[in-house]
Amino acid sequence: MRDISSFAAGQWIAPGAGARNIASAITGEVIAQAGNDALDVQAMLGYARDTGGPALRKMTFHDRARMLKALALHLREQRQTLYELSYDTGATLNDHKIDVDGGIGTMQVYAAKGRREMPDAHVYLDGPPEQLGRTGAFMGRHICTPLQGVAVHINAFNFPVWGMLEKLAPTLLAGVPAIVKPATATCYVTEACVRMMLDSGVLPAGALQLVSGGLGDMLDHLECQDAVAFTGSADTAFKLRTNPKLIKNSVRFASEQDSLNASVLGPDATPDTPEFDLFVKEVQREMTAKAGQKCTAIRRIMVPQSLLDPVIAAISARLARTTIGDPRAETTRMGALVSASQKRDVLEKAALLAGEAERVFGDPDNFTVEGADREKGAFVPPMLFHCADPDSAQRVHDTEAFGPVSTIMAYRDLGHAVALLNKGKGSLVASVITNDGEVAREITLGAAAFHGRLYFNNRRSMAEATGHGAPLPHMVHGGPGRAGGGEELGGVRGVMHYMQRTAIQGSPDILTAIGEQWVPGATELTDKPHPFTRTFSTLMLGETFNSDSREVTLEDIETFAHFTGDTFYAHMDDEAAKANPFFPGRVAHGYLLLSFAAGLFVQPDPGPVLANTGLDNLRFLEPVSAGDSIKVRLTVKHKTPRNDEYGEVRWHVTLTNQKDEAVAEYELLTMNAV
Ligand code: NDP
Repeated sequence: MRDISSFAAGQWIAPGAGARNIASAITGEVIAQAGNDALDVQAMLGYARDTGGPALRKMTFHDRARMLKALALHLREQRQTLYELSYDTGATLNDHKIDVDGGIGTMQVYAAKGRREMPDAHVYLDGPPEQLGRTGAFMGRHICTPLQGVAVHINAFNFPVWGMLEKLAPTLLAGVPAIVKPATATCYVTEACVRMMLDSGVLPAGALQLVSGGLGDMLDHLECQDAVAFTGSADTAFKLRTNPKLIKNSVRFASEQDSLNASVLGPDATPDTPEFDLFVKEVQREMTAKAGQKCTAIRRIMVPQSLLDPVIAAISARLARTTIGDPRAETTRMGALVSASQKRDVLEKAALLAGEAERVFGDPDNFTVEGADREKGAFVPPMLFHCADPDSAQRVHDTEAFGPVSTIMAYRDLGHAVALLNKGKGSLVASVITNDGEVAREITLGAAAFHGRLYFNNRRSMAEATGHGAPLPHMVHGGPGRAGGGEELGGVRGVMHYMQRTAIQGSPDILTAIGEQWVPGATELTDKPHPFTRTFSTLMLGETFNSDSREVTLEDIETFAHFTGDTFYAHMDDEAAKANPFFPGRVAHGYLLLSFAAGLFVQPDPGPVLANTGLDNLRFLEPVSAGDSIKVRLTVKHKTPRNDEYGEVRWHVTLTNQKDEAVAEYELLTMNAV
């Protein structure tokens, strides 16, 4: 029997008084024990807040993104060990890939997004500055900084690796230390993964701790800078979120819990269409992957009345081909549930569903298990129920049998399908298999407010679609109502759950200093050599180059028109241009102005500017006519290191005319040698 330890305040703590036994899902034998009532939760919280937090906050977003990348690579090298351990949870190799590879992949996406979408700085800027006064001397903007407490992650048994990493990656990227508490039933896999991360030496001390077994009274000691993220049952979520200390201290509590996710077959998807087969495949996959123990699994199947019989026949035929057995065997398609108690729970819930629906496929008393003992392991067969009266039924819309169990029901029209979808009272995901954009739109308008994610699939997207059940790091995961009301992932949105948004107000110079991004109106440094002669590391925020002015002639406009082929009437035909409410007559091309701007600000000699990589936020503000003069102001707005050789400089560029009116504004991006 293995001892599964906790990692608390820098020490591995073996199981002790109060330890719980953990059985194999396949043999039912006790394989491990975890838990120790003597865990010093106060010391753990202190270690995270006083050691882990300050070390993480010293790093920039990019430092932490690099840390995540290194962790992910380290885990990837050792994933085979995690696969081996995971078989005892009842999962097959395909299931391990969802869990282990899915978790590592999520961490990699956060590493990439941290580098690409967040600054190499300590403050995240949320939106542009707002001018609050008449002249721009008083501005405002929103910033986000890391919470200065600890994130407590309480995870479900079904994804011992992904469940941890999908919460940990955004937390660490935010700069917040975490205490992870996996579900005891599968904590031996999580413990191994935590050991790998700690052994990698990549994390600063205090950034990650682990509770194997009970959490003790940790939640009673949380404060306003702490956060809890929970995944599991609605009952536990309710118990934990109503903890008086959490309520009193306004501790953030995000919950992701049971939900009655649904999949709808569009009325267009008749048996002769590719969508019909796609639907059947997705339903079967969602019912059997992880033996149906997925928070996103399809629990309710909705089909047009006329297609009910063919769909039941097709799903049943596919389910009949699902080999159940020892997850180590290559021929096994579905392993066991995680434990005998989960098996009992699933059978009890299936019995409740049977009060409202008829079982049309799968018999828990009569099915074959290959290579393992059906009675000792937590095996159940896939079970499909048919509910003939989904309007008056309740259990099929509110009872989640957390296994390979799903209920099919017919809808009369799209409005009815939407009503049935929403009877789940909030879920993580609903899918719609349709090749008709109007069907997709009608369902979206009727049901999006009840769902965290809507997944549409058809012949066009099916080769690349990631599956109804796969939460992706780029997309929001979580849902309203029964699904817990929480939100995770969704790219940088997920990082914000561990940061505080603060409105800051002050002068442009104050905002520039805080955000490490030059704000229009802040001091311009004009006493330096031409900025194109200065390297990335020497350039300073606010360094500004003011060009000479240049007159734009009619000949310039004509030459540009004929050279490029852009002989649009506004540039060539004075009368037609005058008839246009935007122009006083013939005007210069916007792109001509941009080209002249480059000619005005460029310093032509070989130097540290390596490449122009594009422009953002280009606006043409006033027309320029022949005879007008333009000049350009180029200011260093923001710098982002990319590697040892070069970094990206974001320049604020304003073109003005002889009356000092801004005629164009944009941000220019260049790569500059370090
Ligand atoms: P639980 O809600 O019992 O457990 C979830 C997590 O909460 C586990 O880590 C558990 O730890 C912990 N926990 C339980 N009680 C406390 C407490 N008093 N204080 C602190 N932590 C606590 O869910 P299960 O994992 O047992 O699954 C039960 C049901 O939940 C499933 O049958 C399914 O219906 C639903 N579920 C939903 C999921 C989803 O993502 N939507 C995922 C998994 C389950 P410990 O294991 O040590 O008790």
